Amino acid sequence: MEEKIPYKTYLSENEIPKQWYNVRADMKNKPAPLLNPGTLKPMTLEELTPVFCEELCRQELDNDTPFFDIPQEIQDFYKMYRPAPLVRAYFLEKALGTPAKIYYKFEGNNTSGSHKLNSAIAQAYYAKKQGLKGVTTETGAGQWGTALSMACSYFGLDCQVYMVKCSYEQKPFRREVMRTYGAKVTPSPSNTTAVGRKILEEFPGTTGSLGCAISEAVEAAVTQPGYRYVLGSVLNQVLLHQTVIGLEAKAALDKIGVEPDIIIGCAGGGSNLGGLISPFVGQKLRGEADYQIIAVEPASCPSFTRGKYAYDFCDTGMICPLAKMYTLGSHFMPSPSHAGGLRYHGMSSILSQLYHDGYIEARAVEQTSVFAAAEMFARVEGTLPAPESSHAIRAAIDEALKCKETGEEKTILFGLTGTGYFDLKAYESFNDGTMTDIIPTDEQIADSLSRLPKVE
Ligand SMILES: *Cc1c(COP(=O)(O)O)cnc(C)c1O
Repeated sequence: MEEKIPYKTYLSENEIPKQWYNVRADMKNKPAPLLNPGTLKPMTLEELTPVFCEELCRQELDNDTPFFDIPQEIQDFYKMYRPAPLVRAYFLEKALGTPAKIYYKFEGNNTSGSHKLNSAIAQAYYAKKQGLKGVTTETGAGQWGTALSMACSYFGLDCQVYMVKCSYEQKPFRREVMRTYGAKVTPSPSNTTAVGRKILEEFPGTTGSLGCAISEAVEAAVTQPGYRYVLGSVLNQVLLHQTVIGLEAKAALDKIGVEPDIIIGCAGGGSNLGGLISPFVGQKLRGEADYQIIAVEPASCPSFTRGKYAYDFCDTGMICPLAKMYTLGSHFMPSPSHAGGLRYHGMSSILSQLYHDGYIEARAVEQTSVFAAAEMFARVEGTLPAPESSHAIRAAIDEALKCKETGEEKTILFGLTGTGYFDLKAYESFNDGTMTDIIPTDEQIADSLSRLPKVE
């Protein structure tokens, strides 16, 4: 029977989901609302629309509608690179000698190389539909900027990207992909915005962070007519778009009659993990099924495992709304870890509430052990994984090794969010043996948390 499960399970093109699933509809404890930093009252649609596209604001604020139709134009675009394969990791299982059954959902099969395109195309679509000229954004490792530049070029929108400086320098290749798709890319912090100049003054020589870049991109959006700001993670709307991952994964598993015991994803701002787990968490929330769900974060930026559940700014410049989330504080400056896409001080409000309520667990892993897992995976499964994705691989391997000890035949599903082709600088430092694990001290975290905004 075992052998009947194929190495890859694909859905057919017309089985690609036609609706996104809004897990908030099934949550008894809704994620806390975004607050206006001035009044400390929940942000209204009218307050959000000067910064964000209108339809996306509606999605952001909607805690009740369980399904949103995916517009036909977006469904058509999805067909260029979806459905994404669900892969049975037979070779990894064999190499580990584990009785566990491991599956992964691979989102790296597009030029941007990650799952981020799933939301980029949706956000570009709504911006275009609103008649905007263009959008501004930040990018950490560069995947989001790359995805957005592809989406904007598809719809003929201008795309301005503030790229975290250490990635801008480490990853010239992504920068050139973005420029090839017509985007304008600026290293952040920069002196092109007031907030960038202020951050440079306070932290001279900083290599930047997602939080800084967000502040700059928001400023650029609100100071140019016909522009709005778009964000590649953290927000409820992004998690909503990313549910295409989980819905497809679940449909593919149903096709082969498999139910996972453990579901694992890496967590930066929480969008891929939230998207992957949403349909499964929905079942859990409705009392229909149970799963062990594990969020994996870098030990260098441990929002869930060492952060505080509190209202905080989404950006370093403190101009964005306040979100209640597990956070290390918007002043937290992560070390220049190679997992650029996971260097964010906060976490999705939806995932934060689910974690707080015990529906998901979290663990932090160190960079060198992540790359050891990445190397093993690349050698046996044939795919070079992104460093971010490799956090999930690490945890999947660890769970499979536990099964080897106990003899349990658990079924593990993890999200393989992207490819590592643009992360070879990081692989180089691992291969050279110069990679280190930089873990923040309790004092550093306490200092950053002491500067949280006072709410409640
Ligand atoms: C951005 C990114 C992540 C982390 O972002 P989430 O919003 O937490 O999903 C993970 N993997 C890859 C490949 C990425 O590009």
